[in-house]
Amino acid sequence: MIDHHVHGVVRSVLPRPAFELLINEGGWVAPPGTSHFDSSLGAAIRRWCAPVLGLDPLCPPDTYLGRRAELGDEANRLLLRAAAGAGLVGAYVDTGHRSGEVCTPEELGALAGVPAWEVVRVESVFEEAAAAAAAEGRVAELPDRWAALLRRRALTAVGLKSVVAYRHGFDLDPTPPAPGEVVVAVERWLQDAVAGAPGDRPPRLRVADPVLLRHILWEAAAVGREQRLPLQLHAGFGDADLDLHRVDPVVFTPWLRAWRSLDLPVVFLHCWPYHRQAAYLAAIWPSVYFDLGASLNYVGARAPAVLAEALEVAPWSKLLYSSDAFGLAELVHLGAVAFVRGLDAVLSRWVESGELTAVDADRVRSLAGAGNARRLYAGAPGLRASGAGPAGTPGPAAPVP
Ligand SMILES: [Zn+2]
Repeated sequence: MIDHHVHGVVRSVLPRPAFELLINEGGWVAPPGTSHFDSSLGAAIRRWCAPVLGLDPLCPPDTYLGRRAELGDEANRLLLRAAAGAGLVGAYVDTGHRSGEVCTPEELGALAGVPAWEVVRVESVFEEAAAAAAAEGRVAELPDRWAALLRRRALTAVGLKSVVAYRHGFDLDPTPPAPGEVVVAVERWLQDAVAGAPGDRPPRLRVADPVLLRHILWEAAAVGREQRLPLQLHAGFGDADLDLHRVDPVVFTPWLRAWRSLDLPVVFLHCWPYHRQAAYLAAIWPSVYFDLGASLNYVGARAPAVLAEALEVAPWSKLLYSSDAFGLAELVHLGAVAFVRGLDAVLSRWVESGELTAVDADRVRSLAGAGNARRLYAGAPGLRASGAGPAGTPGPAAPVP
């Protein structure tokens, strides 16, 4: 499989509270007297990651974390190599989220023994350009400077990603704002950020202004189209920054219509509980792709049911694989296991009941696991610049663990 949406992992021993923060999307400690281990994901870690570290399946959390601490850095390597053993052949790494706390794409690839490339988060590039422009007192130049910076970053990237879902939701006016509106919005945004910052620290630049988000999406679409980079959009399941009902992929439909002539592939990530809506869009709109991302890790033993729902109306050419792992190597491994096992459970049932041939089932597996990602990202400058074949290392699907 190609994990087309993943983040770096933390390279330090994690005490139990820090580990638990990374197995719940909310990012808050569990209420007093409870544990994030008491969940589908907690059980999946004990079931599928404990044996990788030489422990019995379903051992208690403290036994698991004790062994993990003993192993140190080696635990990350073992878990990532186990993901490769489960079929992982390449990773497309989003570097825009808490990048200072996790390893780089190169380090992740080296630990897993697979090639890795960067997916550039467009809002982060905008904020980086804004910080530089503000420090130099050249705020009016921001629209041009960020467009140039994004084009430069795109040259080594495999895809672009937007977190507009977290910053506002998909219910944004789908027209591009006029240049004058953008300049006014930039000045207002930076003034508010400076006014809200404590005197001794630089302002925190987090772009959530609707005019600027529209501008960022249109510029990202232009760069994606020019440089043949698909645009990933977070949808559905995510942390407390988002209003779930506003990140249903169907809310983005007016944008798909506005971008119809651009021929820009749009990939909705995660999607749960709107994976059926994403599957519908993928069936109707030629430009739309989707994955189940971290949802498969969080639904644990229910992964086959969610995959079956995703495959109800979606063309086989539109579903992709990702783990959306952040921080923990466990999540990279579990994502691969959940996808391989879940898909196998669904497809073998359909083959047994005579709905598909075994050849059909293999075709679904190889398309969703890697074939669709290879085709979708084949033109990305990062892959072309590195001399890789389409979407990295080719390889047959690995056996089901
Ligand atoms: Zn992510």
